[in-house]
Amino acid sequence: MAKKQDDRISNVSHGKKNNKDYAKVNGGVFVFTKSITVGDLAKQLNINVADIIKKLFLKGKMVTINQYLDDETIGELCLEYGYDFKKEEIVNEEDFEKLNIEDDPKDLVERAPVVTIMGHVDHGKTTLIDAIRNSNVAAGEFGGISQAIGAYQKEIHGKKVTFIDTPGHEAFSAMRMRGASVTDIVVLVVAADDGVMPQTIEAIDHAKAAGVPIIVAVNKMDAPSADPERVINQLMQYDIIAEKYGGDNIVCLISAKKKQGIEELLDAIIVQAEMAELKANPKRYAIGTVLEANLDKGEGPKATLLVQNGTLNSNDYIVVGTAYGKVRRMTNEHNQVLKVAAPSTPVSVIGLSEVPSAGDKFMAFPTEKQARDIASKRSLKKLEEERALNNGITSLDDLYGKIQEGNMIQINIVLKADSTGSADAVKSSLEKLNSDQVKIKVIRAAAGAITESDILLAGASNALIYGFNVRPSAQVRKKAEEEKIEIHLHRIIYALIEEVQNAINGLEKKEEVENVLGQAEVRNIFKVSKVGTVAGCYVTDGIFKRDALCRVLRDGAIVYEGKLESLKRFKDDVKTVAQGFECGIKVENFNDIHEGDIIENYELIEKE
Ligand code: GDP
Repeated sequence: MAKKQDDRISNVSHGKKNNKDYAKVNGGVFVFTKSITVGDLAKQLNINVADIIKKLFLKGKMVTINQYLDDETIGELCLEYGYDFKKEEIVNEEDFEKLNIEDDPKDLVERAPVVTIMGHVDHGKTTLIDAIRNSNVAAGEFGGISQAIGAYQKEIHGKKVTFIDTPGHEAFSAMRMRGASVTDIVVLVVAADDGVMPQTIEAIDHAKAAGVPIIVAVNKMDAPSADPERVINQLMQYDIIAEKYGGDNIVCLISAKKKQGIEELLDAIIVQAEMAELKANPKRYAIGTVLEANLDKGEGPKATLLVQNGTLNSNDYIVVGTAYGKVRRMTNEHNQVLKVAAPSTPVSVIGLSEVPSAGDKFMAFPTEKQARDIASKRSLKKLEEERALNNGITSLDDLYGKIQEGNMIQINIVLKADSTGSADAVKSSLEKLNSDQVKIKVIRAAAGAITESDILLAGASNALIYGFNVRPSAQVRKKAEEEKIEIHLHRIIYALIEEVQNAINGLEKKEEVENVLGQAEVRNIFKVSKVGTVAGCYVTDGIFKRDALCRVLRDGAIVYEGKLESLKRFKDDVKTVAQGFECGIKVENFNDIHEGDIIENYELIEKE
């Protein structure tokens, strides 16, 4: 069957750059994309080669005509000869996440806003999602049909709005970590009878870090103890300021359960969306993001995609990550088959060769060959990239490097402490360290143990994690290692501040670094006369060494630090106990040990 006439613009031919024009003068600006020889530079700038060689010689650089120049030297020479300069990065078409394909403004049309509902557990997210889904629906229309995918569209006063049901906070930051931003508006649900809670703050952090506007839905207004003013006041501490107090956060008072205030909330979404002037170009092949994906027993890899720009047709070829395939069937949230999906439409597709990950970008192509070529180039590239996964500043070493290069940088910090008071104190001390070169931004300062969600936020925002008087669990520590996020732990504010200050000054790091050997859980307590409290423990992770240092953790907070007085297996003193074994531990000078405490064994090692 001949392919039907299709007037959509292909994404890649659209964004392609001519690789031959790697250096040229354009209106007084020398634009280059890669290193260039002395001879070529002379030709482009219309200057005598000998003149350039002489100039460089006087600066102490001996070069020949065929020698390649570094970016800095090219820049200097341009300025000396009266040109401005600009290095452009060439983005290959297989790197379509980075491909900045500009749409002709005349092709742009309004698109539906994409809304995510976030908030603390039990504050009513699910109830609100249901209330929204069923609002305006004529009885019997879709009421009885269960929704097939975790995103849906709703028409409000003739305008479509896309709701993403499922992300939750982890998924939201996991997506951002992959560079995907799918949400235009966050609806923050806060229960009027409970107020701001840890996950409320987490949601605020996520939305702010992603630069997404927040509409506050104060829920459970029907509850007898509802106190919306308290919620509004609490939120001010997090820079969420209601319009009536001169801020720009829309606040809606609702009862998801009684379906009150839902219309007003939907109207607020429309208003917020209009302010954002969201546009897309339906006249090109689709690009977008995977919202969720799974392996369906009957149909194979199945993915929910959000079309973010362009139009997806039901027989397009798409590339997602390193997978590609022809869209064999495309359905909406009611399992109805779709032929076309416009921008901001969530669809479920089958036909991919592998299951992609949530947050992966996809791009559609007119021909199978294009899709296959790009997918295979990406596979190759992925191999290379895996070797150099981490390029942001998630370690102090990166930071030293960046500072030494003389770049102005922002250090993002996720800070967890044993109390809100100390979190605030550390945060304000850190933010005072700002210098001309370095800006410290504490993107989260909260009380509590370091959790996976902190790791995700740090990963998504290239942040360092600092713990003050708190410790991560072994599981969280592993996750941090996997994501290559550094966790810095301190017990003294001064030491923490000094470390960051030293990093800023580009000074040498402290010589001793900590090496955690293992963790053990306290399962029984024995009071032994003349000895004190002995903890019957189980080594859950790593190894325990009699001679190493230890600390006692309760709910993630440090309650004591010191040495082991004794380490026993049954009645015998031993030097080490491995993971999976029980042992008796007496912590020197410490008897206030509780069942459920974690004892962490660590040593200090010298680092160059
Ligand atoms: P989620 O964890 O945020 O998804 O919260 P749910 O939607 O599951 O709601 C948690 C509990 O709060 C449930 O028992 C709901 O019935 C109740 N709830 C939700 N909305 C309201 C409301 O507007 N008023 C009252 N009184 N209860 C509500």
